Amino acid sequence: MSYANLMERIGQVNDLLNTQSILNWDARTMMPEGGHETRAKQLATLSVLTRDLLVSAETRRLVDAAEKEVESLDADDVRKVMVAQVREAFDYHEAIPAELTRRRVELGSIGHAVWAKARAENDFAQFVPLLEETVSLNRELAEVRGYEEHPYDALMYRFEPGETVSSLQPLFARLREGLLPLIKAIAQKEQPRADFLERTYPADRQHRLGLMMARTIGYDLERGRLDTTLHPFEVSFTRNDVRITTRFYENYLPASLFGALHEAGHALYEQGVDPAYTRTPFATDLVGLYAVGGVSFGAHESQSRLWENHVGRSRAFWDLHFATARDIFPEQLADVSTEEFWRAVNRVRPGFIRVEADELTYDFHVMLRTEIEAALIDGSLKVKDLPEAWNATIKEYFGLDVPSDTLGVLQDVHWSSGQIGTFCNYTIGNVMAGQLFETASRQPAIADGLRSGNYRPLYGFMADNIYRHGRRYGRDELLVRSTGRKLDPEPYVAYLTAKYSEIYGLQGNGSCQ
Ligand code: ZN
Repeated sequence: MSYANLMERIGQVNDLLNTQSILNWDARTMMPEGGHETRAKQLATLSVLTRDLLVSAETRRLVDAAEKEVESLDADDVRKVMVAQVREAFDYHEAIPAELTRRRVELGSIGHAVWAKARAENDFAQFVPLLEETVSLNRELAEVRGYEEHPYDALMYRFEPGETVSSLQPLFARLREGLLPLIKAIAQKEQPRADFLERTYPADRQHRLGLMMARTIGYDLERGRLDTTLHPFEVSFTRNDVRITTRFYENYLPASLFGALHEAGHALYEQGVDPAYTRTPFATDLVGLYAVGGVSFGAHESQSRLWENHVGRSRAFWDLHFATARDIFPEQLADVSTEEFWRAVNRVRPGFIRVEADELTYDFHVMLRTEIEAALIDGSLKVKDLPEAWNATIKEYFGLDVPSDTLGVLQDVHWSSGQIGTFCNYTIGNVMAGQLFETASRQPAIADGLRSGNYRPLYGFMADNIYRHGRRYGRDELLVRSTGRKLDPEPYVAYLTAKYSEIYGLQGNGSCQ
């Protein structure tokens, strides 16, 4: 009985977390401006209640009793794994002093306004005290959590369990070695035509195209919907209600189109979790306190990037679907060929802004931030020296001079929320997507499907190997089970090399010396 009672309690935690997600979704899509202040209070109240429900004397009693009840089961028995996950989360939250949590919440609540003002006025100095406090609180959190080698490891644990500064070093080195020569070679080449991407594309028709493409790859609208927002995201309130959002620029088509495909990729993951795991630890991030079925931020990003890039930016995809885009935008795309469209949406242009970066330069923005965060946390970089370090790295990677802090250190919202340790997952996701796609597309049925527009076989591979398990297995365990090895950058580097060698006509399929 104890096990059943513990699961009912986790079900309640999941209910509270999903309720917070709904309030967040509403705040970012529908809520009028005036609702912000009271909405923030509602969310704060719910998050205190959630933590108190999880870390209570009653939950401790239930965990203790459930551990005895499942003691004799096999180590990989679902019930035993669930109880172990609850124990881990319980210990995690119990170790963090309430005072530290209170200070982090407070900081997070004022941070956004301070950051937004500093960014608007291009004045990093205004943001310095807040960022110093953020670094110091996160450093305290790392000490409370404990770590073996680097304090930053303790912070990444919440988002990408198992990843460390020393595991990232060889991964980043390989990406730099593999991708920088491509970027340098492309800089010498002529750019493809892309003028037509900036014609006038009415938002309602962009919405129609985005939704059609999301459905084409398997997004289930019986359990989903697409809305408008400022910063696109996907959110699930159990697998039965998984929503996506995108933004519409009337003068730039790719933002909404690839935004919808990206978020639909996240949504496929959540819609594909085994229904038996609904309201259980396998559909609840009990450490991060977020209702989600994906096992890590990186694993989640692997699915958005796989469907957005490996599928949605492929030549085969537009050979099949460009006609649909032209039906919806007959005038805007009248003088454009499939080939021109495909080349244009894959253009490589090193720039200052992470969220606007193309597939080839994106990881450099991530590496920059991850290394800077680690250096801030271990004290080897001071907050006041941040712009100098940032700008020097952009110069080193892209040969560009950062013209202002608004286009440099002040561009991301992340630090204003008090959080450090969340950047590496974007690159982990890219690498994981490369590895999964390479293995999957070796299956003839999947390769045929990609050529003929039948995405069910690829969806089936991902559902079987990744989605249905929810949070049962760790990221690397999923990779070993599906591809035979842990995270490996080679397929990703090979994919980018082949793709951009074709688009830009680089010599020898990627030897760009
Ligand atoms: Zn994403």
